[in-house]
Amino acid sequence: MGLKDAMKTIDLRSDTVTLPSQEMREAIYHAELGDDVFCDDPTVNRFERIAAERVGKEAALLVVSGTMGNLASILTHCGRGAEVILGDRCHTFIYEAGGISALGGIHPRTVPNQPDGTLRLEDIEAAIRPDNVHFPRTRLVCLENTHNRCDGAPLTAEYTAQVVDLAHRRNLAVHLDGARIFNAAVALGVDVKELTRGVDSLSFCLSKGLAAPVGSVICGSQSFIAEARRTRKMLGGGMRQAGIIAAAGIVALDQMVGRIRDDHDNAARLATGIARIDGLSIDLARVQTNIVYFDVMTKGLDAENLVRQLGARGVKVLSTGPARLRAVTHYGISADDIDQTLSTLADVMRSDRQPVPPQS
Ligand SMILES: *Cc1c(COP(=O)(O)O)cnc(C)c1O
Repeated sequence: MGLKDAMKTIDLRSDTVTLPSQEMREAIYHAELGDDVFCDDPTVNRFERIAAERVGKEAALLVVSGTMGNLASILTHCGRGAEVILGDRCHTFIYEAGGISALGGIHPRTVPNQPDGTLRLEDIEAAIRPDNVHFPRTRLVCLENTHNRCDGAPLTAEYTAQVVDLAHRRNLAVHLDGARIFNAAVALGVDVKELTRGVDSLSFCLSKGLAAPVGSVICGSQSFIAEARRTRKMLGGGMRQAGIIAAAGIVALDQMVGRIRDDHDNAARLATGIARIDGLSIDLARVQTNIVYFDVMTKGLDAENLVRQLGARGVKVLSTGPARLRAVTHYGISADDIDQTLSTLADVMRSDRQPVPPQS
């Protein structure tokens, strides 16, 4: 075995890289199964009851991914030609392949995301279309919690309630992209139900901080979920013995929420260490959950180059801009891994201010 094989890779690119726990693998193995398109999979049915109850909604629907969760939700709320108000840095607008437009004929109306992930209430209000034959009809407001591109910022219950009030007063629905909603609940020290109260639908991911191999969930009223089930089928997301996925989801909800605090502690540890390394810059106050963005400020060294050098030393991070990098902590990352990452970062920043040639 060469040195390279012996070296453990520390993968901080995303919390989606987490592998299922032993308990999840066993639950998958033993799962009682049926055909979920006939609503006959007992494990899916049990999972959906647990998920709905957990976030304080009447019903839930297992979907393939967070992208499908948002797409099926937004398609269920909006007809073709309707308009959705959403943040200009939100995942649905940036990273979901334009699906709401391509597949749903839905018009996205972006308003600026503030650095804390919120949309200003005045901006939402101003974006709502008057009733006029020239305009599309506004139907929906989308929020994202925690906010991925805004440093993983958690949106508070108070803020969410204000948006829900405004939207409902104006006859609009609210969809919450809660891919990392449990990270928000842990960071804010509140029950997750506080953060979902009043929203008409939400989606959350099983395959990120909760470490399940596949899957997301849509939650909402009985009638909304019944419609969303039809939308999911239309999108090709009707799954048969999906209890294989739901079994891991049950373990995720049962065992993984309680350890998210460790991920946040590790993110804070990483951020504090980065702040001490010459040539790197980070705003410590912005690191509140498991996502750490930082910048490289050294001449001749850009983010891509730093990613390559770290990768060669067994530490994987993402570049998200010319000088910007992202590291995400998760179930597969220990405090020791963070210390190893920091010493590797310090080495690279010390030793190599010259651009390295691209890997062959
Ligand atoms: C990851 C993510 C999604 C989509 O999840 P996939 O399962 O990768 O499709 C949606 N919203 C946010 C905020 C995310 O971070």
